[in-house]
Amino acid sequence: MAFALSSYPVTYRAKYAGKVWTEEYLEKPHKTPAEEAAMGADAANALADSRNFYTDMPLVGYTTQYGLSCFEGLKALPQKDGGLAIFRPDRNAVRFNKSMIGLYMPGFPEDAFVRACVETVKRNVQLGFKLQYKAEWEKDSFMTADSIYIRPFTYAEGGIGVNISYEPWVVIVTTPVSSYFSAGKSEAVVTERIRATPKGTGWIKASSNYVISALAKHEAADAGFMECVFLDATHRKYVEEGSSCNIFFYLKSGELVTPELGDTILPGITRSSIIELAQDRGVKVSERQIAIDEVFAEAKECFVSGTAAGATPIESLSYKGKKAVFNDGKVGELTAEIRDTLKGIQYGSLPDTKGWMTRVV
Ligand SMILES: *Cc1c(COP(=O)(O)O)cnc(C)c1O
Repeated sequence: MAFALSSYPVTYRAKYAGKVWTEEYLEKPHKTPAEEAAMGADAANALADSRNFYTDMPLVGYTTQYGLSCFEGLKALPQKDGGLAIFRPDRNAVRFNKSMIGLYMPGFPEDAFVRACVETVKRNVQLGFKLQYKAEWEKDSFMTADSIYIRPFTYAEGGIGVNISYEPWVVIVTTPVSSYFSAGKSEAVVTERIRATPKGTGWIKASSNYVISALAKHEAADAGFMECVFLDATHRKYVEEGSSCNIFFYLKSGELVTPELGDTILPGITRSSIIELAQDRGVKVSERQIAIDEVFAEAKECFVSGTAAGATPIESLSYKGKKAVFNDGKVGELTAEIRDTLKGIQYGSLPDTKGWMTRVV
């Protein structure tokens, strides 16, 4: 499974109490990476599972009972020069802080966030848990490339009454991942479900938002689709997002459109990076509402974007029994260019002219 949890041994944890954050790094049970690799999948998974606990954190609390939590997802990528670097952790730091404040938690300092992400990855590298760049990844545009997924998240204190969290933990775990979407099949369907509503938490990377996404994605998969697409809650006609990714349409007119940010759209860091890359190429990019009818009439390419997805082409979008096929079902030219440029910068096969990469080693 491409996105299974087999956390690396070293995790980070900070606890807010008495108005200060207290940090610690914990080294969970492990062997050497070579020994773990030689253990066989079941035993290695059991060992990795045994790391997935903090026995001193509350069972009943606002996170486990009411879904009060937010998180981040970012990646450390093996570099062509042999090192390891994280893609734009400063942007995730800003968003995490905003998410926490949006949930009336204490904010988490941005510099502490970046430091903790780098240090957690680095401490695992020091134990030998790192990934090696492979030249063969370049042949398929890094479709099969590995990376280290970094997952920071909040965890609320114990309590049974509905409440906000005054003294949460922030935990960071890391796990190796390969590509998120399996190659080949990339058909999407518009779901009837509503992911986010005005005045809600759609703009926050809140765990609770993912309940609807998981249901809709499950239903889409049941119907044979890789991905689902949400429409807006009010008019039920403007495209908002994929299941957990932002979405782009390249129109016949040469305009690249992505839904404008608002309280129902998650401000993706991949999204904003892609906007920059497209503008650098001289493409006209519009952040605006786009109706599903306009997509059917005008879009020639479509892709979804996110840390896990990168820029993943969507070959068709089905809606009310009709299907819009983009670029005859083949990966479009702009989509491929954006995907390859982004991956190239992330894996260090293209120069990082924008200062997006933060070195770990
Ligand atoms: C995380 C997320 C994205 C993508 O954000 P990135 O910063 O690009 O990874 C898009 N939509 C939703 C709903 C998300 O939770």
